[in-house]
Amino acid sequence: MAVVPLPVTTLQQLDRLRKGLFWKGASKCTGGDCQVAWELACRDINDGGVGLKDLATLNTSLLLKHIHKLFAGVQNPWTDWMRLWYDEGYSVEDTPLVAAGGLTAAALQPRLTAAARHELELLGMAIAGVVLGGSHDGRVFVDSPSEAPTAGAFYRRIRTPAIAPPLSDINWVGFAPKKAKIFFWIVRHGRTRTRDSMHRHGALDSPDCPFCPGHSEDLDHLFARCPRLAAFWARVLPGHSPPTSACDAAELVAGLLAAQDAQLGHTAALGALWIVWKSRNRMVFDGIRLDLDALVRLLRDHLLLWCCRASRKLHVSPLQAWCQSLVHIA
Ligand SMILES: [Zn+2]
Repeated sequence: MAVVPLPVTTLQQLDRLRKGLFWKGASKCTGGDCQVAWELACRDINDGGVGLKDLATLNTSLLLKHIHKLFAGVQNPWTDWMRLWYDEGYSVEDTPLVAAGGLTAAALQPRLTAAARHELELLGMAIAGVVLGGSHDGRVFVDSPSEAPTAGAFYRRIRTPAIAPPLSDINWVGFAPKKAKIFFWIVRHGRTRTRDSMHRHGALDSPDCPFCPGHSEDLDHLFARCPRLAAFWARVLPGHSPPTSACDAAELVAGLLAAQDAQLGHTAALGALWIVWKSRNRMVFDGIRLDLDALVRLLRDHLLLWCCRASRKLHVSPLQAWCQSLVHIA
């Protein structure tokens, strides 16, 4: 990847493996398993993605880094090899295997497709007027923090910025486990598999909420408006009006601990939504309806466990105290 431009089919095969691992933890997956477009997942987290690398862009960035080394006069085996071939007239006949008669020169000649030959002609025309001098190229890449640009600097420059849905900081700046962060990322993109969305895609006969038949289970209902959550949100957010959407709930919960440390609030927000989602799935798949006490105990247990993932420098005691207070009100 750092030396040759990879063919599109190779990149597609690599992405097929990555998609399978990301969405199913398996070697492959189907389109139905992918809740959010792969192109979106491969964006930076500030652009609404998960921060996975776009392989084509990464390939180009790594190649640019090598080309820069070549022009900047950096000495390494790859640049030495290139100079040997192009600066000193080294030819195929000089290759040890060819010189020893073990390989014909013709076997080492590039065998280009018609499309590649056309691209080569275009490239030839584009650089026909370029004259290279004997001195090293002193130009610098303005986006790079140092004179030796990194592949990451090229990558960030090539990628097109995009508008991200709100609450990126709540999503990623915290110590909730990765699965909870990916869950909330899907929520932010409105791609959670609610019964309403599955009904619209023909996978379910009815869009009804499993707790309150007659009410469609869309995203806002599932995480905020469902009557079964009224007591839960009243306990978690005392003194606040009930949240109207999943993102509204996340912002309100995050605000409770923002004065102590933003990371505590962000993690608590993801924990609350994660518990709502888990308890909904218990009802859908096991037919078990958790009451208010069970919900807040579940929230406390999860958050206390997640505190173990926090940096040692971070004081998590305010979050731990908040978790306990939720349970002891009863
Ligand atoms: Zn409901």
